[in-house]
Amino acid sequence: MTERKLIKNIIRQADILIEELEGTFRQRAEGIRAVAILLQKQEVKRNQCEECEGSGVITSDVARPQSFSRDVGVIDEVAATCEECLGTGRKE
Ligand SMILES: [Zn+2]
Repeated sequence: MTERKLIKNIIRQADILIEELEGTFRQRAEGIRAVAILLQKQEVKRNQCEECEGSGVITSDVARPQSFSRDVGVIDEVAATCEECLGTGRKE
């Protein structure tokens, strides 16, 4: 099981416990859930694509010079799917 799935699993189990428990036991389950969510955020950061920084998209500037149909030249931003991660925003 991948680390990501494992963390998801912990969160799901904690959710079930939060539903079923009361009082201090419920608070403990909420504590576990909070820690798992922190782990999840760290995992995302650690495994994000370095090329697009996890966005899955690469933007680049394209110069559109002045022409008959354009009064002034402009710089356009063009977005393309990141080739490194194929748009997933993750390594591997
Ligand atoms: Zn990428």
